[in-house]
Amino acid sequence: MDNLTRFEAATASEVLSWAIDRFGASFAIATSFQKEGMVILDLASRFTSEVRVFTLDTGRLPDETYGMMETIRKRYGIVVEIVFPEAAEVEQLVTLHGPNLFYSSVQARQRCCDLRKVRPLARKLETLQAWAAGLRREQTESRAGVGRVEREAGGRLKLHPLADWSTAQVEEYIARHGVPLHPLYARGYTSIGCAPCTRAVEAGESERAGRWWWEEDAKKECGIHFAPDGRVRRAGAAEAAAETEASEMHKGFTLWFTGLSGAGKSTISRALELKLRAAGARVEVLDGDVVRTHLSKGLGFSKEDRDENVRRIGFVCELLARNGVIAIAAAISPYREVRDEVRARIPNFVEVFVECPVEVLAERDVKGLYKKALAGELQNFTGISDPYEAPLSAEVTVNSSFETPDESVEKIWATLERLGLVLFDRSPLTHE
Ligand code: SF4
Repeated sequence: MDNLTRFEAATASEVLSWAIDRFGASFAIATSFQKEGMVILDLASRFTSEVRVFTLDTGRLPDETYGMMETIRKRYGIVVEIVFPEAAEVEQLVTLHGPNLFYSSVQARQRCCDLRKVRPLARKLETLQAWAAGLRREQTESRAGVGRVEREAGGRLKLHPLADWSTAQVEEYIARHGVPLHPLYARGYTSIGCAPCTRAVEAGESERAGRWWWEEDAKKECGIHFAPDGRVRRAGAAEAAAETEASEMHKGFTLWFTGLSGAGKSTISRALELKLRAAGARVEVLDGDVVRTHLSKGLGFSKEDRDENVRRIGFVCELLARNGVIAIAAAISPYREVRDEVRARIPNFVEVFVECPVEVLAERDVKGLYKKALAGELQNFTGISDPYEAPLSAEVTVNSSFETPDESVEKIWATLERLGLVLFDRSPLTHE
């Protein structure tokens, strides 16, 4: 299987029948219902009606595309698998930058494509050993070098069964076999994509001129098959591109949330994580509750064990921050001395004190722990039967008894900007 160039001499049907036999349910065809994808689907359906087909539903597709899913079900008996983006990521992006952010800059458009297409596709591909897409060499300059079969990260194979087909061959196949066509072709479209980002083309324009028509760069791509600079995405290329972009936007640093149980450390840190991710940052959260089931499994709640837990979390934060990642720790971490010890070891350490009076927490008592602690049923409970030493000079203090999580996130974000730790250019993404 190592010499993939041997597939160059094979026909599209031969490549597809080989993949179906070899990989079975671990092979799938990706399509946005363009002509090429429909030809591949039609070819594959001649070998089996079991072939898997999936599409990315970005949430901005034209109605006609949903109609195609029904057409395929009726014509081929194939139920198209639909892949959605992470709702929370899209929600955050659109809330921050507006529903039509893609018109404001190439960077904004690529971020939208990343959240709505690239990441969902990556998730889907994790479940597959091989997949097929409709790229053809003659379509654009950036597609001129695609192979019939390519190996991606982790060994997964990507098939371009029509790599060497001409437009005339595609048209001829469709006419001969009566392959169903996306209705927008009849209205002058030559490429099918999201509704707000695709238009019909004028006579003499290139096949992909209707995609992101307001952009001038001829290499424009959504990032699924190619990096933003037009280079083919192969093993590791996507990650490398993301890393380069992220390293220009932020430094590696540690945000250390400390505060009593139930004060809102996890809620605020997760909201901040989403906001940072939506901005393109590389970020990891080490939540105290989760850490205790893995990294600190077996540790108890004595002062020694609590200090050891903090040191372990600090060690991981240091590693992450050193490699350019934003590490967010959310742990009660009640003792000042060990927090300061961790601070001294980690460059760019930002302490966030999540303040909230014990009386309010006892009233809130989300996990029912305060009630038990006050009744003497829980030992070593911070704030009741164990001490909590509030920071004396935290970089930022938020108070969940009168601030909303969003207000706290804004406050922390402003501190990060003031400290020069995040350099996100938010202006191009802002719609006035
Ligand atoms: S094509 Fe447009 S709407 Fe669709 S994901 Fe990309 S930028 Fe967003």
